[in-house]
Amino acid sequence: MSSSEKYRALKGMRDVLPPDIYLWQQVERTAAELFSSYGFNEIRTPIAEATNLFTRGIGEGTDIVEKEMYTFEDKGGRSISLRPEGTASVVRCYIENQLHTLPSPQKYYYAGPMFRYERPQSGRYRQFYQIGVEAFGSASPVLDAEVISMLCHFLARLGLTGLNVQINSIGCPTCRPGYIEILRGFLGDRQTDLCSDCRRRYLTNPLRILDCKVDGCAGVRQGAPHVVDHLCSDCSDHFNTLQLLLSHLEIPYTVNHEMVRGLDYYTRTAFEVTSANLGAQNAVAAGGRYDRLVKECGGPDVPAVGFAIGMERIIELMKQTCPAPVRAPALYIAVLGERALQRGLGIADTLRNRRIWVETGDYTASLKSQMRKADRLGAGFVFIIGDDELAAGALRWKLLSDGSEGTTPFSAVTSFFESRLR
Ligand code: ATP
Ligand code: MG
Repeated sequence: MSSSEKYRALKGMRDVLPPDIYLWQQVERTAAELFSSYGFNEIRTPIAEATNLFTRGIGEGTDIVEKEMYTFEDKGGRSISLRPEGTASVVRCYIENQLHTLPSPQKYYYAGPMFRYERPQSGRYRQFYQIGVEAFGSASPVLDAEVISMLCHFLARLGLTGLNVQINSIGCPTCRPGYIEILRGFLGDRQTDLCSDCRRRYLTNPLRILDCKVDGCAGVRQGAPHVVDHLCSDCSDHFNTLQLLLSHLEIPYTVNHEMVRGLDYYTRTAFEVTSANLGAQNAVAAGGRYDRLVKECGGPDVPAVGFAIGMERIIELMKQTCPAPVRAPALYIAVLGERALQRGLGIADTLRNRRIWVETGDYTASLKSQMRKADRLGAGFVFIIGDDELAAGALRWKLLSDGSEGTTPFSAVTSFFESRLR
C-alpha cells in the first residue's frame, strides 16, 4: 500500500464513536439490569467457530449459510466461520459445558458483533451487533411468553414506542411436513411465477416462500393455507396458551401467518418485533422456539426459546426521539506552575474517586489558554490554582455557565464541589 493510500473500514463495517457510544452503553446496561431480574446470566462465546457448527445448526438451506458467512481456512487447514448469529454458539457452549446438568431452565444472554456478507444498506451491515437471550430446558409456552414479555419491557425501558409484536407457529416435525405438502400443492404449477430463490426454496425450504419480500412472490402465495390451521394438537395447544398468556400480560400482538423466520431450527413459536419508524429493514428483534437444536447439535433432548435484538436498529430508533447525550467534564483544573500542578493532580484524584469527570490543564500554559480549553471542552466548573492560591490555602473557582466565581479552602474542596453539583 502506498503511503498516500487511505485506510478505510471494510464495506458494511462501522466505527461507533461518542456521542452514539453513550446510547450503546445505555442499551447494554439496560439489558444487563433487566435480563438479570428475569434470571438471565451473561455468557460470552468466541466470535469464530468451526464452520460446520453453523451449517448444521442454522441449516444448509438458509440464506445465512448459503451466501452470507465469512468462512476461511486457518493455518491448520480447518474451516472457520465468523459467527453470523449467536444461537448456534450458545447451544455449542451449553452442550460442551454440560449446562444441562444445572437446574432447568438455564437462561443466558449475550451481546456482541455478528458477521454476515450481505449487501450493506441502511439498517443492514456486514458487522452488526446483537443482544440475544436463550432459555433452555422448558417446553412450556409460559417460557415463550416470559421471553416475549421481557423483550417488550426491554424496548419500553429504552423509551421505544410504536412497535408491533407479531407471532406465528410453524409447527413441529409431526405436523410441519404435512403442511409443507399442502403448501406445495397450493403453489402447484404457479411455482414458475416465483423468484429464482423461491423456485429453489420450493424444493428445499418452501416455508420461506411465505416471507419472501419479492413482489411477484407475494402475489403467488396470496390465499395460501395458514400453518396454524394445520398444526398437530400439541402445537395447537401450545400456540393457544401462548396467546392467552400474552393477553394476560397485556402484550398487544398480531398473528402473522407469513412470518416463518429464516433459520431452520425453529419449532412452534416464531416472533418478531417490528417498528413503523424504520425503513425497509424494520425488524428490531426476532426469535422463537427451537426444541430440536440442542439434540441436533449432539446434546441431550432439551427444548429452548430465545430471541436476538439488532443493536443498530434500536440505536437508530432511540436517536429519532432523543439525540445521543453530549458529555463534558464537570471540572477543569487550571494549574499555573509545577507546585500548582501537584496540588491539582491530588484534587483531581480525590474527585475522580468520587466518580466525577475531572480534567487538568497544562501547567506550562497561560491561564488564558487553559480557560479557553476549559470552555471548548464545555466544563462545568474551573478551579484555578497558582502561587497566590497556594500561599492563601484556597483556590479560585469559576462556574462557566453564569460566570460566577469565588474562593474555597483546599481543605473543603470535596464538600464544596459535591454540594455545588447537586
Ligand atoms: P432481516 O429480515 O432484517 O434480514 P433476519 O431474519 O436475517 O433479519 P435474525 O437473524 O433473526 O434477522 O436477527 C435478529 C435481528 O438482528 C434482526 O431483527 C435485525 O434487527 C438484526 N439484523 C439481522 N441482520 C442484520 C444486519 N445485516 N445488519 C444489522 N442488523 C441485522
Ligand atoms: Mg437476514
